[in-house]
Amino acid sequence: MKCKRALSPSGLPGIDYALNPYGGCEHGCVYCYGPEVTHTDFREWRIVRVRSNIAERLAKEVPNIEGTVGIGTVTDPYQYAEKRFMLTSQCLEVLRSAGLRIHVHTKSDLILRDLDIISGMKGEVGITITTLDEKVSHITEPGAPLPKRRLEALKELTCAGVDTYALVGPVLMYLEGKEVEFVEAVASTGVRRMCVDRLNLRPLLSQRLERMGVRGSTSALEKIRHIAGDRGIEVTDVF
Ligand code: SF4
Repeated sequence: MKCKRALSPSGLPGIDYALNPYGGCEHGCVYCYGPEVTHTDFREWRIVRVRSNIAERLAKEVPNIEGTVGIGTVTDPYQYAEKRFMLTSQCLEVLRSAGLRIHVHTKSDLILRDLDIISGMKGEVGITITTLDEKVSHITEPGAPLPKRRLEALKELTCAGVDTYALVGPVLMYLEGKEVEFVEAVASTGVRRMCVDRLNLRPLLSQRLERMGVRGSTSALEKIRHIAGDRGIEVTDVF
């Protein structure tokens, strides 16, 4: 599909404009806020709409803006479609030429393909990790790369000097009793910041998770907050 505008103003903290090259997300996480935010039926959320002209539109818009562009505020900019269409990569090139600051958020190690571009830009990258358990990841994030690959990506980005953080969220019941092991795995990547997310239960999401028997865990979240703090990792809350 063709888009009329590449950027939309963002109300997210620290982000002035939102950029989402894809509509819908193949990762299909059961806890995704995207369907509700975009008024999309969850069953259709994994149908991806490719905004094929987004980089050209962006090139026309960047001369008139300043601030930080959030890439992947509603959908993952490195979902599998990106391997084929490379729109996120093209948009990064445009933003780099314009000298704009970026805030990229993903669950995919495909981001490493663009490490050369990102490492030369101002900004930060967040990688989401919600579990170390591959079975749990298959159930809750069925289309996303496994946690091990995300940890490796976080490590490689951090080692390359990119300002990184681990987005731990939402914190689900599966982390209960595994908090120490989890924080140690995240800390082993060298990341110095962690952003934790309490499950934000919107009505339809709440029904979906209830049907699946999935719930958030405040106790695991608080334990993770303390363990990470003790290891010198700065912990903040999402929004
Ligand atoms: S990766 Fe993000 S946008 Fe995609 S389905 Fe999962 S939570 Fe939603």
